[in-house]
Amino acid sequence: MSSDRLCGLLRSALSFIQARYRLRFTSREQLEGWQARRLRYFLRHVVPRAERFRQSQATRLADLPIMDKTTLMADFAGFNTLGLSLDNVLALARQAEASRDFSTTLNGVTVGLSSGTSGNQGVFLVSPAERQRWAGILLARALPSRLLGRLLCPWRAPLRIAFFLRANSRLYETLASRRIDFAYYDLTLGLQASLARLAAQRPDVLVAPATVLRGLAEAALAGRLAIAPSHILSVAEVLEADDARRVHQAFGVAPRQLYQASEGFLGYTCERGTLHLNEAHLHIEPDWLDPERTRFQPIITDFSRHTQLIVRYRLNDVLRIAASPCACGRAERAIAAVEGRMDDILWLVDRDGPRLRALYPDVVRRALLLQGDALQEYSIEQRGLRWHVGVQGAGDHMALCQGLTAAIYQLCDQHGLCPPELSFGQWQAPPPQAKRRRLKVLERPQGLPCTY
Ligand SMILES: [Zn+2]
Repeated sequence: MSSDRLCGLLRSALSFIQARYRLRFTSREQLEGWQARRLRYFLRHVVPRAERFRQSQATRLADLPIMDKTTLMADFAGFNTLGLSLDNVLALARQAEASRDFSTTLNGVTVGLSSGTSGNQGVFLVSPAERQRWAGILLARALPSRLLGRLLCPWRAPLRIAFFLRANSRLYETLASRRIDFAYYDLTLGLQASLARLAAQRPDVLVAPATVLRGLAEAALAGRLAIAPSHILSVAEVLEADDARRVHQAFGVAPRQLYQASEGFLGYTCERGTLHLNEAHLHIEPDWLDPERTRFQPIITDFSRHTQLIVRYRLNDVLRIAASPCACGRAERAIAAVEGRMDDILWLVDRDGPRLRALYPDVVRRALLLQGDALQEYSIEQRGLRWHVGVQGAGDHMALCQGLTAAIYQLCDQHGLCPPELSFGQWQAPPPQAKRRRLKVLERPQGLPCTY
C-alpha cells in the first residue's frame, strides 16, 4: 500500500471514530460550544485564505454576508482557497459528465456538479483530505452497528454497497476499499439495465434516490429482482410516505434518509428513524419562513471544509422541524421532513386580502394522496394563477380529474385561499437521470405581496 493511500485510510478511520464516538452531543450547549470553537478557528485561519474574504476582519459569523449558488458561481475563484477559476473547473466537470468517467481530478481536487437544472448548476471543489474525512463521517453516520462489525472484521466478506446516482464522483469512489465492495449504477442507463448486475452483486446496503428505490421495490414485488439489502438509504429526492411503504413491503426494511448535497453532508437518520441535521460538522442557521417557526431555509457554514468555502450559504431547500426532540437524545436538530425546494412552494391569493400565501409541498402532497391508489403519478406546474396537473391513474381518467379538482378546492378552502384555474393532462415521466419534482412554480403570480 502506498503511503498516500495509507494516510488517506487513516484519515478516514480517524474521522469515522471521531464522528461515531466523540462528536455525540446530548446537550445543545455542548454542541454549540464545539461549533463556536471550530468557527473561531475557521474565521481566523481558513476564511481569509479565499480572495473574497481576504480583507475580512470578521470574528463572528453574523458579520459575514449571506451567499447562495448565484453568488458563488458569479465569483467562483473568490470562494475557493486555491483560486481556481470557473472556466478551468467547468471544462473538467462537463467532460466527466459527457464521458461518464468521473475519475479525473484537478491536481487531486475533485470537481462536483450539483444537480440543478442546466444553467443553474453549481460547481463544488473537494480536496483529497476532505474527501477522505467525508468518507469516514458518512460511514459513521449512515451505517448501523451490526454492519460496522462486518466492516471491521477482516475475516468476513466485504460490505457490499450499491449506489444509484445520476453522476458518480471520486468522492463516492473514496468509499471503495478492501472492506467495501462499492458498485456505482449509472441512472442515465435506466433502471432495467441495472437489474441483472444488481442481482449479481447482492448488496447489503442500497443507496438511491426515492423514485429509484420505489422502482426497485416494484421490480422486487413483481418477482423481477431478488435482492435482500439489510440497510436502505434514500438520497437526493423527497422520500414520500408511499415510497417508504412500498420499499418496506418489498425488502422488509424501512428506508432511512441521507441528506447529502454537493454543498455538504447535511443530515442523517438516527437509529430511532429520525432525520437529524449534521450539526457536529456544519453550522446551520434556520431562516424561518413562517411566524410559527415550523419551516425554514437552512443557511449553512461548513467549518470542516478548507478548499471550497461554504460560508453562510443559503440552500434552496425547505425543511420542516420536528414537533418534539428525538428520543435518541442527540442534540442535533430533528427534522420532520425535507419538503422540497423553495420553488416547489405553490402560491395562491388569500381570500381575505390582496396578497399571496404559500402552500407548502407537504400539504399539497398529503391532500392529493387522499386519492389513494387511483392516483399513480402526478405533477403540478404553476404559471401565474393557473395550475396544470399531469395525471396518471389506475381507473377512469375523467373521474380521477374530478376527484383531484375536489381535493384541491377543499385544500384551498381549508387554508382560506382562492382556488387556482385548473387544467389537466397526461403525466409525463421525467428522463431516468432527472430528479423527481412533482411541484414546480414556473411563474409566480405577479403584483401581489407574498406571505409565508
Ligand atoms: Zn434521533
